[in-house]
Amino acid sequence: MSLQPVRGTRDLLSDELRIYHRIIRTAETVATTYNYQPIETPIFEYTSVFQRTLGETSDIVGKEMYTFSDRSGESITLRPEGTAAVVRAIISEGLTQTLPQKRIYSGPMFRYERPQKGRYRQFYQLGIECIGMANPFYDVECIALADHILKTLGISDYKLHINTLGDTDSRMKFRQALVSYFSKHINNLSEDSKIRLEKNPLRILDSKDDGDKKICSQAPKFENYLNDESKEFFKKVTQGLDALTVPYILDPHLVRGLDYYCHTAFEFKTDSLGAQDTILAGGRYDGLMEQMGGPSVPGVGWAMGIDRLALLLSSDLKDHKLRIAVIPIGEELETEALKLTQNLREHNFTTELFINGNLGKRFKQADKAECQIAIVFGNDEFTQNQVKVRNLQTDDNLPNKEMIVDSNQLFPYLSSLTL
Ligand code: ATP
Ligand code: MG
Repeated sequence: MSLQPVRGTRDLLSDELRIYHRIIRTAETVATTYNYQPIETPIFEYTSVFQRTLGETSDIVGKEMYTFSDRSGESITLRPEGTAAVVRAIISEGLTQTLPQKRIYSGPMFRYERPQKGRYRQFYQLGIECIGMANPFYDVECIALADHILKTLGISDYKLHINTLGDTDSRMKFRQALVSYFSKHINNLSEDSKIRLEKNPLRILDSKDDGDKKICSQAPKFENYLNDESKEFFKKVTQGLDALTVPYILDPHLVRGLDYYCHTAFEFKTDSLGAQDTILAGGRYDGLMEQMGGPSVPGVGWAMGIDRLALLLSSDLKDHKLRIAVIPIGEELETEALKLTQNLREHNFTTELFINGNLGKRFKQADKAECQIAIVFGNDEFTQNQVKVRNLQTDDNLPNKEMIVDSNQLFPYLSSLTL
């Protein structure tokens, strides 16, 4: 039995995990001002929830899902993405009676992919879904929210790409044009794309294969097949973004990997991550709920890759929290030290008690635990209601190497320290 985590999964520790939490906290705080409510769906669903909605020809359903039979023979799938699960939940919970539903979620997703930097088999997404609003202003709101969250996180190296996939009518016409174009190049298409040509030719535009990409660059443009309603819809989206001064790049070859998108499709991309450059992606999915067996209710939303954002933010890994070591001198003061440690924690100071080994060893342990200061006291200090506060940092952020502080002045003194 291997003691390594399963390929494509990993353990998240301390600093890295703190970044994940910060990303989620920041996104939730910003989304609250857009009136989003939290939702959490199960990690696994009946396979049909994803199979029917994502489409048999999508990469996810075709080759990426973790699907298994449980002990009663039900086909179960670990969620590969959030939207289908959230829409399922909105239907299951009877929430289609109270629209709009603006929901934010986060958590692990599972896809059987080739692991590499920024691409894992268990990865983390945070997403929002705005369900029940057909107006293009909600596409604008969703995109503005994404932009707002990235800015608040301090990320600036990204560009918003947008495109329209039009309504069903426009998409059917475009599909025909693509089929006749790609059919002419069928011998040079990748094996995957040959299958896509039969089942879902639009998907070829989303191919990662270099040969396919070359052929795609000359493919018919969707804008020439859009009907007036679709053009009008997209115009309102871009005008809304202009009004909010959210910059964007019109990207006619942007399609989404999933079957259920229509009208607006968008991706936030960065130059700093190499091949895995999309940090957030989404779009409108008006047909999804009906396709799942619910009422015909429109929706728009996005999901961001927390792992990729964390890679962008990893340069400010360290937390700058004050950590305090409590070090008593003499066994008879250990209980007093325990009480002081507890008292400090109740006053919100991050504190660790060191009572093992000789004094030198304790200071070493405190240093390893990244404590910046130590509170030290022996019998002399204790009988005079005093403690020694020692600066453990090598760089001199704290005023004194060591000073005597009256016990009743300790908390105000510690609060006054800035690191
Ligand atoms: P890609 O083209 O990179 O495979 P995708 O189109 O499959 O992405 P979505 O399903 O739209 O991705 O998911 C939204 C975001 O989730 C992506 O933009 C990315 O940041 C992140 N993401 C998707 N798959 C993975 C993965 N396997 N590992 C880490 N992050 C991922
Ligand atoms: Mg993918």
